[in-house]
Amino acid sequence: MANIVIIGLGLIGGSLARDLRRCGHRVTACGRDAGRLAPALKLGIVDAVEPDWQVAVAGADLVVLAVPVGRTREVYARIRPHLTADTPVTDVGSSKCSVVRDLTALCGRLPAQFVPGHPIAGTEHSGFAASVEGLFAGRTVVLTPTAETDPAAEARVAALWLEVGARVLTLSAEQHDAALALTSHLPQMLAYTLMGQFAEFGQGKTLAELAGSGFRDMTRLAGSDPAMWHDVSLANRAQLSLALRRYMERLGELAAAVDAGDSERLLALFTAAQAAHHRLPAA
Ligand code: NAP
Repeated sequence: MANIVIIGLGLIGGSLARDLRRCGHRVTACGRDAGRLAPALKLGIVDAVEPDWQVAVAGADLVVLAVPVGRTREVYARIRPHLTADTPVTDVGSSKCSVVRDLTALCGRLPAQFVPGHPIAGTEHSGFAASVEGLFAGRTVVLTPTAETDPAAEARVAALWLEVGARVLTLSAEQHDAALALTSHLPQMLAYTLMGQFAEFGQGKTLAELAGSGFRDMTRLAGSDPAMWHDVSLANRAQLSLALRRYMERLGELAAAVDAGDSERLLALFTAAQAAHHRLPAA
């Protein structure tokens, strides 16, 4: 049994707390407002709520930061003086270069005990109320240690994710950010844009009645928390910008084929995309 402190008990932090308790660990939650964490304690999802972060992290075997990615630096700054040197700390933020950059700027170098991480698991819902047990089972968690990362801290963090049923993949922060720009951040932008175009069309209820399951599948992500995606799009803006520009090129190619009534080109584009879709392994 380990003493695990989770800072930020939202969708990801709350889901992790549920799984870690099930595995027999002692979970302590910290947040901006201890009162908002009371339901988790009442429901038995955490063992303790500690309003004093200093006390919580000083006694921790491992600390997980599950806050919006843009808040990682300020949260780490707050706990840093109270951490023992060998307590592993990890995060769950959706972009990794920004986290490495932010903590390097704060500490002069990336702390050896800090293991950047990102579970590729989630939903379009936010907050503790949306947290569920088993969210990470069978999902990939990416760790992006650097040459400075303590291998023992990395092993402890990897073991935590394996325990809740995830598989662990180690990449560089750059590899992570380039891949996630395409597989996660770009689709999110497309869902918001498509939904924005729908809203602009302005036929309210009638248009909604004409939005079938395909439209709803395509725009599900537009239900996600704008504040979280604001942070992610700024944190990974270089890679996201590249992905958006490449997508616009491809849309331009498609628009040209539509304008020209180029049936051969349209069929070729759709057939290649369908074949790629069929090659996607099952989730
Ligand atoms: P969430 O449900 O909104 O939870 C965020 C938590 O952080 C809340 O408990 C919030 O507490 C707390 N928080 C916010 N600002 C804080 C601050 N300055 N200091 C301390 N606590 C603060 O968000 P989430 O979906 O769990 O996302 C958390 C992290 O996971 C993000 O970095 C995100 O990029 C990453 N992630 C998300 C998903 C996903 O699908 N949602 C998937 C993988 C990774 P309050 O109650 O005080 O607001």
